[in-house]
Amino acid sequence: MKKLIAGNWKMNGSAASNVALVQALLSGASDWKCSVAVCVPAPYLAQVQGLVADTGIDLGAQDVSQHESGAFTGEVSASMLQDFGTRYAIVGHSERRQYHGETDAVVATKAQRALAAGITPIVCVGETLAEREAGRTEEVVKRQLAAVIHTNGHCISEIVVAYEPVWAIGTGKTASPEQAQQVHAVLRAQLRAATAHADRVHILYGGSMNAANAAQLLSQADIDGGLVGGASLKAADFLSIIAAAH
Ligand code: PEP
Repeated sequence: MKKLIAGNWKMNGSAASNVALVQALLSGASDWKCSVAVCVPAPYLAQVQGLVADTGIDLGAQDVSQHESGAFTGEVSASMLQDFGTRYAIVGHSERRQYHGETDAVVATKAQRALAAGITPIVCVGETLAEREAGRTEEVVKRQLAAVIHTNGHCISEIVVAYEPVWAIGTGKTASPEQAQQVHAVLRAQLRAATAHADRVHILYGGSMNAANAAQLLSQADIDGGLVGGASLKAADFLSIIAAAH
């Protein structure tokens, strides 16, 4: 399967720096063997849609509302994302689970809203350090994915999963390739039990992926790409990760 490298810009960027970053990516683009996406802050969707049009870089959002429309001040709906050519929407990022109280059920509904609008949800799962140390990693990621499977039924083959151990996000600590592969294999098995098409579901690794560790992580059997935070803001680093994905 063609790998997918998705950048998560988080709450970074400006109209000017977005132009510089995308231009640097495009000028460094060679013959990419993987799919590439950038998940940008909602106010910049229109701008970045224009910047990446016809370039082979896909556009993503970082969240989507669980509601369809109406009195939900500040929310952005899936159909609004669709209006700007958004191909992916991250849902259930650990920062949203942690700081915005998103539950498994909310994340599952968000994935459903995205799918209904023809947007691929990038569903994030991952354990905290305390959960890993308590030997609860498998239980936690399976519970998080089970909610999304339960709500989305046969559409589950249309999602992307991102395994992002919370202790590895933005910390410089990366799961070892073996640690990551072990969890990816668990997630693949769970998907296989839910759909005959589990082998075409991308399972991305995220958590301090960088130019130095990407190749080894991406060589694991069930690691189908990366969700890249910090390193996606530096064109040279993001390009190195893209080059490692083949
Ligand atoms: C992320 O936020 O999805 C992420 C993986 O961040 P970082 O690469 O900075 O750890």
